[in-house]
Amino acid sequence: MKYKRILLKLSGEALMGDRQYGIDPARLAEYADEIKQIHDQGVQIAIVIGGGNIFRGVAGAANGMDRVQGDYMGMLATVINGMALQGALEDKGMLTRLQTALKIEAIAEPYIKRRAVRHLEKGRIVIFGAGTGNPYFTTDTAAVLRGVEIHADVILKGTRVDGIYTADPEKDASATKYESLSFADVISKGLNVMDSTAFTLSQENELPIVVFDMNKKGNLTKICAGENIGTVVNV
Ligand code: UDP
Repeated sequence: MKYKRILLKLSGEALMGDRQYGIDPARLAEYADEIKQIHDQGVQIAIVIGGGNIFRGVAGAANGMDRVQGDYMGMLATVINGMALQGALEDKGMLTRLQTALKIEAIAEPYIKRRAVRHLEKGRIVIFGAGTGNPYFTTDTAAVLRGVEIHADVILKGTRVDGIYTADPEKDASATKYESLSFADVISKGLNVMDSTAFTLSQENELPIVVFDMNKKGNLTKICAGENIGTVVNV
């Protein structure tokens, strides 16, 4: 396998499947199958999951809610998703740990880097919940932060599109896909890969990002095996 330790970032919206809100159990089970394939190959897997299928602080603020209050609600939404994913992975026989940036000791371990790494070495899948634990950040930033901390080889950002395009392929039919980009290319071309905090953190720490379609079966395994799937952003 090309990648021995990965940080998989899944958006909350990815868990909705065809629904408008919440979690689709069938989609969760599909993701668990994909993750099991690489787990069986010995890849060490850490996962950061978003919360956009349940709540986003900015959306609350747009409706008059205090932004910080809303962001903590968003962080709790990621814990709900993390628990759902944990259940789906354990249903398929994988051992997991949920570690959260906000302490919720009845259901999750507090985030402790050394412990997280030990779990990974023992073959347990570690899900990081509650983002960075701070308002005004995103789970993309949490993914890069945790990825850097645990010395992941790569950030695998699973999305609905199969890579980074010259323009939004859902809006512009003439958009073409990049196979690879440098961090500098992404900035000079004004491409939107992750929010700027997440992107800068990745660039400064030379942690590559692969943007790929998580809904296409087998993609995750192919990427870990070294196939050119999606778009890779590297130094
Ligand atoms: N959030 C936060 N700090 C973090 C991570 C997340 O405040 O470190 C909040 C924020 O309100 C965000 C929500 O949690 O909108 C859900 O995360 P995100 O929008 O990144 O989820 P995704 O878009 O990946 O589903």
